[in-house]
Amino acid sequence: MLFVTEPFLPPMEEYQHLLKGIWERNHLTNNGPLVLQLEDEVPRYLSSVSMLYLSNGTIALQIALKALGITKEVITTPFSYVATTSSIVWEGCTPVFADIDPETWNISPEAIEACITEHTQAILATHVFGNPCDVKAIQAIADRHGLKVIYDAAHAFGSMVEGRSVFDFGHISTASFHATKVFHTIEGGAIFSAHSEVLHRVGFMRNFGHNGPEKFDGVGINGKNSEFHAAMGVLNLKYIDRILVSRKAQCALYDHLLKDHRALRQQSTPGASVNHSYYALLFESEASMMNAKDNLEQNGVMPRRYFYPSLNKLDYVQGQAPVSEDVSERILCLPLFHAMTESDQEKIADIVLKSQES
Ligand SMILES: *Cc1c(COP(=O)(O)O)cnc(C)c1O
Repeated sequence: MLFVTEPFLPPMEEYQHLLKGIWERNHLTNNGPLVLQLEDEVPRYLSSVSMLYLSNGTIALQIALKALGITKEVITTPFSYVATTSSIVWEGCTPVFADIDPETWNISPEAIEACITEHTQAILATHVFGNPCDVKAIQAIADRHGLKVIYDAAHAFGSMVEGRSVFDFGHISTASFHATKVFHTIEGGAIFSAHSEVLHRVGFMRNFGHNGPEKFDGVGINGKNSEFHAAMGVLNLKYIDRILVSRKAQCALYDHLLKDHRALRQQSTPGASVNHSYYALLFESEASMMNAKDNLEQNGVMPRRYFYPSLNKLDYVQGQAPVSEDVSERILCLPLFHAMTESDQEKIADIVLKSQES
């Protein structure tokens, strides 16, 4: 079986070595030394703004909305993972869907502008498949209307905009370090921000609001992460360069093998350098996509319909987004992970090409 992704694991001895230190210290969670090390090393590796490590990417989105005081309308993308929308609703805010660009598959700045009302407080946009949003246009809109910008950068570890880390943009960028992501800590997430007062607040919020053992600074939740998760992150960070390089080569090989296929690929945003976190094909029709998917599955290959359905179609929200709905129905992500071989890719490409003929 070939799944859409397979997590990277460092050599077990390296993890055991870090476990030994955890046993010796018996400091298992609550800002232990490995958490602090990860919070130091990740932004340094990315040359990004500061980061706080959290339990997952979903709590990162929820805390981001809470920390910025968002309570009303949030303009967001319908083409993302469900957590982008569900976090807005979970926080008691209203998602307002701005449609996507048909080529970059990111939220369209023009569509954002058209969605602004007197209740709009924030924009929550996803860097889809690691391809950065048009961050300049979005910031200009936010400045004109006094809005906060949050980026769901769950896919974008290592992506850059004009030589700067993608995590540097917006008031807050959130990351997911879930096992299926390019850089993972088994479960995990983070908030990146250039605004120290925002990080200060997030620091209280992720720890029940604790400001010392008997004092509280505002309402909080448990968004912390453990030494065991941080240990995995510290190790994986040593291998991430190699992983990113191999994914780039794997994407180039897919491009080559599938050059005669009619499906469209994601158009990179001008000035962006992407991290090759996913390999998506946009088929001519839902039927041709389903045909390829069925043929792959019959041969033990499990691609995924990322993202389907378009999030405006969830039964707890409202809104129209014809471009996103159309793209969602026709898109398929092929397997892409560090351990995939050239012959795996040749087999997959062969099935996809043959499906086009049938
Ligand atoms: C994975 C993902 C999330 C959720 O992250 P978790 O760490 O699994 O909670 C949110 N947004 C996007 C776009 C994702 O891909």
